[in-house]
Amino acid sequence: MKCPFCAHPDTRVADSRLIEERNAVRRRRHCPNCGKRFGTLETAELKMPAVIGTDKKRSPFNAQRLRNDLTAAARKSALTPEQIDETVRLTEHRLYTSGQRDIPSAALADMVLKELLRQDTEAAVRFAALHKHFDNPSDFASWLAQAVKTDRKA
Ligand SMILES: [Zn+2]
Repeated sequence: MKCPFCAHPDTRVADSRLIEERNAVRRRRHCPNCGKRFGTLETAELKMPAVIGTDKKRSPFNAQRLRNDLTAAARKSALTPEQIDETVRLTEHRLYTSGQRDIPSAALADMVLKELLRQDTEAAVRFAALHKHFDNPSDFASWLAQAVKTDRKA
């Protein structure tokens, strides 16, 4: 990295620190030529995967919509608005760091459910009923049995 003060081509890294929540690395550098110090911020260029609907259309991930869906699913359950926010945030982070170009909406629903099951089974069941499009009640029952079992294991 070139020195921004004297254009010396070779500067030294004095310190580097990972800023986890931003997927970034902050470095403190100094120039051996002019002695000045400066910082750099390196950020990973991550792209949010697009969500592919059941109609095969691609659309951007909509955090507000997920929040609304979760709020609807959380009605009468013990899920707090903070837990909803946390679920949205974690889902967003998982999508962001998945490195995938797109994600089918069913896989997104599974991702959300995995998080929800950890927080509130009742809200998860309601979310699944609304978003997983089960063909018949026994599919739903077997999904539920599996999900609860996986949840206990984790
Ligand atoms: Zn310099």
